[in-house]
Amino acid sequence: MTTMKNKVALITGAGQGIGFSTAKIFAEAGAIVVLADWDENLVNAAAKKLSDEGYKTLAIVCDVSDDAQVQAMIEETVAAFGRLDAAFNNAGVQNDLADAADQTREDFDRVTGINLRGVWSCMKYELQQMRKQGSGAIVNCSSIGGILGGAQRGTYHAAKHGVIGLTKSAALEYALQGIRINTICPGLIHTPMADKMIEGGQKEALDAMLETVPVKRLGRPEEIGNAVAWLCSDAASLIVGHTLVVDGGYSIQ
Ligand code: ADP
Repeated sequence: MTTMKNKVALITGAGQGIGFSTAKIFAEAGAIVVLADWDENLVNAAAKKLSDEGYKTLAIVCDVSDDAQVQAMIEETVAAFGRLDAAFNNAGVQNDLADAADQTREDFDRVTGINLRGVWSCMKYELQQMRKQGSGAIVNCSSIGGILGGAQRGTYHAAKHGVIGLTKSAALEYALQGIRINTICPGLIHTPMADKMIEGGQKEALDAMLETVPVKRLGRPEEIGNAVAWLCSDAASLIVGHTLVVDGGYSIQ
């Protein structure tokens, strides 16, 4: 059983989808949960949903692509609860679909600024707190896009590949300081992002992808949340710098 009893856990992009689902699982496992998102209404509603169920939560509005906001998010967390035991750096966006010759610098900067530099920034300030404590666990969110190519999704895939490199490098640095850092690679998961693909006229593309998933279905957000909670728990004490793929077998073929 995964337990996070009395641990202070921070989740970025916690307003909906995988982030919110993971926040709920952390709370159920006994953690005090800090939900962060750049969408104020979303994150306040998400935190309220959990606190209405009796869980201890804090909502923070933070754009992970802004270093000063990230630093303030960690300071607010520590001011509220005294420490930071676990973090799931999950906030992310998709790139505008385009072939490499037609991608824009603006979109590249937007997507890498959130999906890669955002993870770098969150990890930096989380580690500054965790190294003071001499303990902690971080899970960075990559994707199957972090291990595979994807036509018209080069920017997203580049950022997600980068997350794995950041994770492995930091994991080496902090292994002896009681801090474990791992990556999770969700496959095709039923989240608002997937719903947006369907609404955006990409349902056929999604269905075609699902045909190639051995389990022939979208993953449930809680199937990612359970894996993240386990990686953050003491049950995963020897898991260091690992890339955990949770994709129903999509990437093994
Ligand atoms: P997923 O499939 O990862 O669950 P979603 O789009 O459903 O994808 O959720 C991503 C979450 O990340 C959303 O709640 C969104 O508001 C949040 N998010 C996106 N960009 C940022 C950012 N720069 N800073 C903080 N949160 C962000």
